[in-house]
Amino acid sequence: MALRPADGAGIAAAAARLRRGGLVAFPTETVYGLGADAGDDRAVARIFGAKGRPRFNPLIVHAPDLAAHRAWAVFDERALRLADAFWPGALTLVLPRTPDAPVSRLVSAGLDTVAVRAPDHPVAQALMRAAGCPVAAPSANRSGRLSPTEAGHVAASLGGAADLILDGGPCPGGLESTVLSLTGEVPVLLRPGLVSRDTIESAVGPVETAGPALPGTLPGTPLESPGMLAAHYAPRAPLRLEAGAAQEDGEALLAFGAAPTPGPASGVASGYAAVRNLSPAGDLTEAAANLFRLLHELDALAPDAIAVAPVPEDGLGVAINDRLRRAAARD
Ligand code: AMP
Ligand code: MG
Repeated sequence: MALRPADGAGIAAAAARLRRGGLVAFPTETVYGLGADAGDDRAVARIFGAKGRPRFNPLIVHAPDLAAHRAWAVFDERALRLADAFWPGALTLVLPRTPDAPVSRLVSAGLDTVAVRAPDHPVAQALMRAAGCPVAAPSANRSGRLSPTEAGHVAASLGGAADLILDGGPCPGGLESTVLSLTGEVPVLLRPGLVSRDTIESAVGPVETAGPALPGTLPGTPLESPGMLAAHYAPRAPLRLEAGAAQEDGEALLAFGAAPTPGPASGVASGYAAVRNLSPAGDLTEAAANLFRLLHELDALAPDAIAVAPVPEDGLGVAINDRLRRAAARD
């Protein structure tokens, strides 16, 4: 595995690797992706092997813009409006495949649909344009573990499984894209993410979230989203959510907002093994950007558990709480 700076030479080498069927980890505005040529069955199969990802969990196909994606996905009027409003950006659309879509059936995991996104990150854009192929890219971590927001996280999680890791610094967004299915009459939110439901609804009208739950998924997880298992994004340490002032032995604390001063007056314990704050100012955008990095940091200290302060369930808080609940769920 080679870690290279995401400069011109690094990007050219990474594009050549992709064209030869290699696996390249690269930064996006959400998290680091593990990319392969989506038109190459063997390269796509290697992604599932490298991550230990179940084959029933389909992959998102990335390309620089709408024009490229029209070769493998069918855009109706709503999809065109959403692509126009949010691309490049952190919105993934699940659409019907075109009849002879030049992308591997493996990315669709047996479905007649394909998930597509145009990332808004200069390194991702330059890489995709240099490679000239659609890029299948899930997050660049072992399946079920924390998502990587820095190149070092990728190296630690995947080791030699990636042929090349492009280091483009920390990901600005820090959370995955919002996944929206447009295969039915009403758009269905399959995964909350960096683009909030409200902004989507202002572009395209009402969006549904509920659906029959699959075994092992959280309530409300729609059947159409095979990858949304409850246990996901898991640190090694167990998480204790909605933690109040009380502290248990050996815990680390992931705080949010102005933390009350520890001491007898406030009843706040001060003996945490370590404390990190998602956003001392209580800013949800900052909290999203810090979430996985701080979980990685606390987990590396091997506490008995990580207590997590409550995060408000609005705007980006919906996606943050979704990731925290999945990180807290155990098989
Ligand atoms: P990841 O790229 O690993 O962060 O996850 C991609 C997410 O998109 C997973 O939750 C997948 O289940 C979902 N997804 C990808 N392709 C499809 C598709 N064709 N239909 C429904 N969900 C999809
Ligand atoms: Mg992932």
